[in-house]
Amino acid sequence: MRSPDEPAGGIAVAAVVGTVAVVTPILTSIYLARLEGVIALKAQVRQSADEILRHTEESAQQNWTAYYMLKDDHLRPCSPAEIDLMRSIDMASPYVQAVGRIEADTLLCTSLGTTDPIPLGPAKIKTENGVDARTEIRLPIAGNHPLNILSKDGLAVLYDPMLFLDIPDEGRDISLTVFTPSGPHRNSVTLTDAAVQPEWQKSIPKGAESTFVDSGYIVSATRSRVADVEVVAAVPMSDATRYERQFAHILVPVGLLCGITLVWATLYVVRKRLSLASILRAGVRRREFYVEYEPIVELATQRWVGAEALVRWRRGNRTVRPDLFIPIAEATGLITGITQCVFEIVARDLPMMIAADPKFSVAINLSMTDLGNEETVALIQWALDKSRAQPFNITVEATERGFLKGDAWRSVVAAIRERGVVVAIDDFGTGYSSLALLQDLPLDRLKIDKSFVDTVGTDGVTSQVVHHIVELAQSLKLGLVAEGVGTEEQVQFLRERGVQYAQGWFFGKPMPVTKLCDILSARSGKHEEVAEEDIPLRGALANPHGDQPTLASERAAQS
Ligand code: C2E
Ligand code: CA
Repeated sequence: MRSPDEPAGGIAVAAVVGTVAVVTPILTSIYLARLEGVIALKAQVRQSADEILRHTEESAQQNWTAYYMLKDDHLRPCSPAEIDLMRSIDMASPYVQAVGRIEADTLLCTSLGTTDPIPLGPAKIKTENGVDARTEIRLPIAGNHPLNILSKDGLAVLYDPMLFLDIPDEGRDISLTVFTPSGPHRNSVTLTDAAVQPEWQKSIPKGAESTFVDSGYIVSATRSRVADVEVVAAVPMSDATRYERQFAHILVPVGLLCGITLVWATLYVVRKRLSLASILRAGVRRREFYVEYEPIVELATQRWVGAEALVRWRRGNRTVRPDLFIPIAEATGLITGITQCVFEIVARDLPMMIAADPKFSVAINLSMTDLGNEETVALIQWALDKSRAQPFNITVEATERGFLKGDAWRSVVAAIRERGVVVAIDDFGTGYSSLALLQDLPLDRLKIDKSFVDTVGTDGVTSQVVHHIVELAQSLKLGLVAEGVGTEEQVQFLRERGVQYAQGWFFGKPMPVTKLCDILSARSGKHEEVAEEDIPLRGALANPHGDQPTLASERAAQS
């Protein structure tokens, strides 16, 4: 049956996924560009603060050198010889504007030449090294340019704080403060920009740095390890947009490309699914399916007591495996048509199998949709009537997913079991079914998934799982079928633990009904012409005279 909503639904999903696929990478790249912009600006501000601190330290170094040279000169203060020495110190120190002598807050003489004493007034700042600092002193002998004066032991060094700030600003709106962190009031030694807020001038440990965002500014503070000085640099966050744009130029096209690729991939998958769905629909209409039967063996006797019907899709001269189309059939509702097809084929084949062995039972896979559909019960009844079979000639199996969703399956399963048809849980252990759920399931049989059977004989932790599943099934009085049995060792292991039935390539691969019936007939002596190579040495012919158990008798034993 066609599901009218399916293409529209698919396109709607594709449209939503497509929009999300385009918008998400673009928004992400804008966000990343913004983030990168802030990170880049933080690094820039920190670098500026570091550079200014380096200038300040160099200046401090030159100041101390000048101080010690004058302190130890043994020349008469302000004598021509000392003025000459002062000049040579001045010339050798790029950050030093002048050196001189000071007494009672008065500048007596400087390297700029002797003048009348110049009163300076008291120093407002005292550093931890006992240095007096005066800021923004304008002296006619220095062209009235604002200078800072540091003095100690009657010796003075005059310098221009603006020289510290000589860093490439690259058009940034940078605000700076250089201050003495040890001072009681954290006095600014060089200059304070109005934008620098007092709370940013925190005293941090020597040699430390701290970069943070506050009041719309990126602020970086760094304190010298050697000098009593700390630098605070601040730049408005709005400056980050320049970097943001730089990153956006790279990231947004990348995001756009990712988005387009995602949309393309989504459309590709959706189109493929839609086209596969429409081909599948045509396949259902044209009944392009056939069934192969994989023998199910009773382990105690090694006799073929049943077979699992496995659907195949014939597309031209290719066969499509059920793993590829069953999920699409389930998603599109086409599974109902396929299940119907399988029942029709089984109803046609069953009389042949029953003729070879009246107690033979065919296991049919039901999907999640079938399990919630009351019509499945009618379909089973129809197949029984059509093939003149007994209820024990049909078994149904469904994966645990089918039992997890909703409650609709309960009445369907109950009605199937009421008719005497065995219900098995398929691929047990691969889903999420809990012990509690299993106890609650009205089932007859449990199929141990191949993945667990594969672990038999290995040391892995999962090898214990088979053991637990067997115990679980036995405590719940469920019949057991092991799937995907491939070795003698597995057969022995399962038999020793009381697993009744098994299937897998060890016993026989899925085969056409004719071959299956030939082997069954040969075994019961009804059909002698079966080719020698078609008769497996193990399985059907291994124990030709044993009692034939029925799958239905298993149910009787349970009740
Ligand atoms: P399943 O029900 O677990 O079926 C067993 C699968 O394992 C089959 O694959 C079978 O051929 C394979 N198998 C069995 N023994 C061995 C072994 O010893 N070694 C290996 N390597 N494989 C083994 P297949 O036929 O490809 O079926 C795959 C799945 O498709 C089935 O898993 C079942 O879930 C689904 N399926 C098959 N037929 C139908 C059907 O008619 N209706 C529905 N709804 N699903 C079906
Ligand atoms: Ca199955």
